[in-house]
Amino acid sequence: MKFQSFNLHPVIAASIAEAGYTTPTPIQQQAIPTVLQGRDVMGLAQTGTGKTAAFALPILNRLMDGPRGRVRALIVAPTRELAEQIHESFTMLGRLTKLKSVTVYGGVNVNPQIQALRNGVEIVVACPGRLLDHLSQGTIDLSHLEVLVLDEADQMFDMGFLPDIRRILKQIPAKRQTLLFSATMPPDINKLAQEILSNPVTVQVGNTAPPVTVSHALYPVEQHLKTALLLELLKHTDTDSVLIFTRTKHRAKRLGEQLEKAGYKAASLQGNLSQNRRQAALDGFRDGTYQILVATDIAARGIDVSQISHVVNYDIPDTPEAYVHRIGRTGRAAKTGDAFTMVCSDDTIMVRTIEKKLGTPLERRTVSGFDYTVPAPKKDAEFARPPREPRPARKPASAPKSSVGSINPFKSDHPGAKPSGRPQQGRPGAAGGAPKTVFNSSRRGK
Ligand code: AMP
Repeated sequence: MKFQSFNLHPVIAASIAEAGYTTPTPIQQQAIPTVLQGRDVMGLAQTGTGKTAAFALPILNRLMDGPRGRVRALIVAPTRELAEQIHESFTMLGRLTKLKSVTVYGGVNVNPQIQALRNGVEIVVACPGRLLDHLSQGTIDLSHLEVLVLDEADQMFDMGFLPDIRRILKQIPAKRQTLLFSATMPPDINKLAQEILSNPVTVQVGNTAPPVTVSHALYPVEQHLKTALLLELLKHTDTDSVLIFTRTKHRAKRLGEQLEKAGYKAASLQGNLSQNRRQAALDGFRDGTYQILVATDIAARGIDVSQISHVVNYDIPDTPEAYVHRIGRTGRAAKTGDAFTMVCSDDTIMVRTIEKKLGTPLERRTVSGFDYTVPAPKKDAEFARPPREPRPARKPASAPKSSVGSINPFKSDHPGAKPSGRPQQGRPGAAGGAPKTVFNSSRRGK
């Protein structure tokens, strides 16, 4: 199948060619014709499948006809990074359309957003909190809205945004096309979908299956040796750019510093950073200034760095879905990539759950020449199970109207991460399975 078969407007077809897209991805093949017909869509797809273009292209096509200078398409996303990324996709694919897109999210000065909205835009990509601020201040007019997209709906739910979404829904025209994308379908999202989608077509790709181009391996190791093993792995692996996940912001920051000290061009991305510093870290990672980015799940959500060659789970994620989501950042859109996961003995249950989800056992590897017997220093903080982030406060189900009564330029759109019920303590050590040794052969080299 080729993009030509969708009969998109010639200026959009030209941008697709310029972007270097030749073949529509499976989600695009399914979603584009359906969205073009004006149908509501429930899209089950994770980041990395090409889902952004799956909705951006038919929306741009629709907006080519009809009035300009009023908001006709609204995309709601959980994080600022994802909002920026969607905006960039619209800008790239709509480069020749003269359609305008703007991002609306908290943590940055509101005035440029107000000015851009006043100047007239057709597409708004927003995080829920700041969008509600604009609605209550009357600085955005959504009365002409034709298409609503809720992207990464499960993540918005995890982050406590569902009440905000419901408030937004009350303030936009009921007669509209609605597209809901989610990597998973927890009951609350299913319920929301049933309420807001009218006779939807469900499109689904690899809901839980990771990209086939990724090769995964587990590296059993004791907690206190993780950093040393990571440095050993990095030394022996031919990496372009590496995204490393830690369980907590504190660990992300600390590991970033340790890697820098070891001579790597590394940055960490965690919720405590100002928007400017987050953007600098992201831009630096994208343009190669930083070879390594260390992040928590929430901070990394929506990162689109097509060149990521390796994902390292310094800490195993809390759910199999998070595992798939993390490693979905490598091997994106048919690039090859590797995913390394460090595991301790108390990760055994999660390893089994992940393997069950993937439908295949993961290979255990050990690194030859690495001394796994070094005992933990008595007071080594890394020896202990990493502490949890404080439990995020869920947004109250019915936040008072006054909470959006005035626009706070510093309000963040990150209410917090999903709490987890995993045990916190346990003996360090290796998760089950007989590991295979690497680096004594020429396993790697890309
Ligand atoms: P997404 O799932 O929307 O985050 O997209 C993942 C990556 O795939 C992005 O870097 C897109 O630019 C890229 N991409 C999307 N569609 C295609 C396509 N048809 N061919 C090649 N790359 C694509």
